[in-house]
Amino acid sequence: MDAMDALVDALQCLPGVGPKSAQRMVYQLLKSKRQRGLHLAHCLQDAMIKVQACEKCANYTEGALCRICSDPARADRTLCVVESAADIVAIEHSQTYKGCYFVLNGKISPLDGLGPEEIGLPKLRDRVEHENIEEVIIALPTSVETHATYHFIQKILAPYAVQLTQLAHGIPSGGDLEYLDGYTISSALKNRAALNA
Ligand SMILES: [Zn+2]
Repeated sequence: MDAMDALVDALQCLPGVGPKSAQRMVYQLLKSKRQRGLHLAHCLQDAMIKVQACEKCANYTEGALCRICSDPARADRTLCVVESAADIVAIEHSQTYKGCYFVLNGKISPLDGLGPEEIGLPKLRDRVEHENIEEVIIALPTSVETHATYHFIQKILAPYAVQLTQLAHGIPSGGDLEYLDGYTISSALKNRAALNA
């Protein structure tokens, strides 16, 4: 495969990029954006090498702990469980939440070989146990696909005196948090409902 074909092929790992749009991008870059293309290559390599998962919450970070986990002003007895690190950006944008996070490695999906262990629930349990967590807010979309995840989180945290809540209505069924506006997230957080009351 020559360099152009390899690049067209590689770009298709991006969401929403198919063969045609990848080819258009490559022609654009080669024709008039060589410097910016090189800059893109540099930034891409830099981020792929430097950015890792926060040791505590799995948010993206360049250090051992992300900026949220290392911020002493955050309420560290409250954890908000999200499905991906991109959801943290959406919740932070709502400026409502001052606690910490826990990013799951996806949702329970037996067909994909993703059980409670694979998505990181034992680590969530350890944090609840060792950090005296008072409230766990489950901020996952309420869809058929997340039903099992809710169930396992409730089950794994049942032995602990922790308040379990979920985002209130307003989050559309099956909707990804990252696409919601700040107001919707903010009201869903304020009106969160108890799961284990
Ligand atoms: Zn963190």
